[in-house]
Amino acid sequence: MKHELPLLQALIDHFRKLPGVGEKTARRLVFAVLDMEDGEVRDFAETLQQVKENIGFCKRCGNYAESEICGICSDKARAEGLLCVVERPSDIYILEGSGNFRGRYHVLHGVLSPLDGVGPEDLNLDSLKTRVDEEGITELIIATNPSIEGDTTSLYISKMFSGEGVRVTRPARGIPLGSSLEFVDRGTISKALESREEI
Ligand SMILES: [Zn+2]
Repeated sequence: MKHELPLLQALIDHFRKLPGVGEKTARRLVFAVLDMEDGEVRDFAETLQQVKENIGFCKRCGNYAESEICGICSDKARAEGLLCVVERPSDIYILEGSGNFRGRYHVLHGVLSPLDGVGPEDLNLDSLKTRVDEEGITELIIATNPSIEGDTTSLYISKMFSGEGVRVTRPARGIPLGSSLEFVDRGTISKALESREEI
């Protein structure tokens, strides 16, 4: 239903662009905004803008970062030599939520998908090679989603490093095939990361 108030409708349309937000939820969010104090709305709008302007990608791993290098890359307490390779920065937050991974990450920013025209050159693979060489990486855990594209990508990476003295593993198959990390519970992710399998 189009609203007779164009501004209100415009805000509904903005909220509807967010994942998981339908018309009804968007309307509830708009009414919640209207109920906020003026200062609160200003802070909200400013934060939205600042997030977009100030958060970029970590130069080393491709994670979200507010400076050149993200907090995980610069954390000296992280285990050296262990890299977990993920599709998107948001996957890092899911894996960190499982609580027991102490290595660092590398974000591919996608997966191989020939049908969509995504080839190896479109992924963050050159920098992965550089990191393995320069950071003394001994194990790569490929935590791409358990989809055909995710599996193709993990196989490609394992071939890329075969004979290079790097162990390439995948989290054990507790994660259902065809699902996305986003929808798997913390316990399952944590166990799958602990008992990983060689590719
Ligand atoms: Zn980083």
